[in-house]
Amino acid sequence: MKNIASFEEISNLKTTDVYFLRAREVLKKIGFNPRVVMEVTCSSRNLPWITLSGIDDLACLLDGKKADVYSLPEGTVFPSRDINGIPIPAVKIVGKYLDFGMLETPILGSLSQASGIATKASYFKKRIGNIPLLSFGVRRMHPALAPLIDRNSYIGGCDRVSSIIGAERIGQRAEGTMPHSLLLLVGEERGWKMYDEVTEKGASRIALVDTYGDEKETSLRAAKAIKGLNAVRLDTPSSRRGNFADIVREVRWELDRNGKKDVGIIVSGGIKEEDVEQLKQAGASGFGVGTAISSAAAIDFAMDIVNVEGKDKTKKGKYSGSKNVFRCRKCHSYLVSVNQKEKCPNDGSQMESMYQKVVDGGKVVYKERIDESRKYVLEQLRWFQLS
Ligand SMILES: [Zn+2]
Repeated sequence: MKNIASFEEISNLKTTDVYFLRAREVLKKIGFNPRVVMEVTCSSRNLPWITLSGIDDLACLLDGKKADVYSLPEGTVFPSRDINGIPIPAVKIVGKYLDFGMLETPILGSLSQASGIATKASYFKKRIGNIPLLSFGVRRMHPALAPLIDRNSYIGGCDRVSSIIGAERIGQRAEGTMPHSLLLLVGEERGWKMYDEVTEKGASRIALVDTYGDEKETSLRAAKAIKGLNAVRLDTPSSRRGNFADIVREVRWELDRNGKKDVGIIVSGGIKEEDVEQLKQAGASGFGVGTAISSAAAIDFAMDIVNVEGKDKTKKGKYSGSKNVFRCRKCHSYLVSVNQKEKCPNDGSQMESMYQKVVDGGKVVYKERIDESRKYVLEQLRWFQLS
């Protein structure tokens, strides 16, 4: 494929916006390589919250770059602005400008997309609650992004991912049902039975039941064909949906009446956040979400100088000074401050300082803990609401 930059090319600044290289030329010409503090913030007021992810690539990009990099822990769920309306710096980089400044383009690109995916996954998880959320969206984006999509949707709250490489990346088993192609090629009964035969032990048995006929009648046949059927999947085309929630409700009713209470109903196919409540209420016991998560809008992160050679300095619209981020253990408020310690303005309790070192003088000290980061995301969701 010709349209993918290799890591070597990214590292060699081939994906950097050209204006940074011009800036570098000027600075080199005048022999000026100042020590700067740069912060990454998202000033948008339109997001209910941000779920930070992609620290693995941040660390990778700054490995060996003679800078100190701090970030909120991966998986931190935070509002774009603190209790006083100050944008919260998710990442802070300290070092000589020419040692890392040219990487602004790939730093922002990787962090914005990874966090955009994790954030959307966490919105879905908040709405879906304690039932499975499956990441099915790899097919909507460039295949080279599959590990990125699945890793970050998992951290954001997806329970399983569908791509082989994504599952390998997070150390989990890939989850999937069966493609319509299989049932078209060998027929429904035979397709279900053979699928049951070849699928490894311990993996869920989920039968697709919307290929030809009525979903409830097909669900009963599938439940007969596969003895240990875990769920049926309804991926009904939008042209045939009518009221999708009512179809789910009917299927649930018939399964229950035929002694199949333990067979769940997974819904998929263009599921959006606003569909979740109705479908869940109708009896959906799992959600396969594709495009809405994999092509989630990137978080609008920007990276700005806030201090040059010890002197606070920044552009208009930004807040100068090297800052720290604090969070209250009691009320979960965030506070941005230039101090080393802070008390919560709400309840006076000592606040927790949030930054963790990712890179120490060019040495990566970030340790990836994917499952812990995901668990951390889920624990924080109770503090945040969606309208
Ligand atoms: Zn507090």
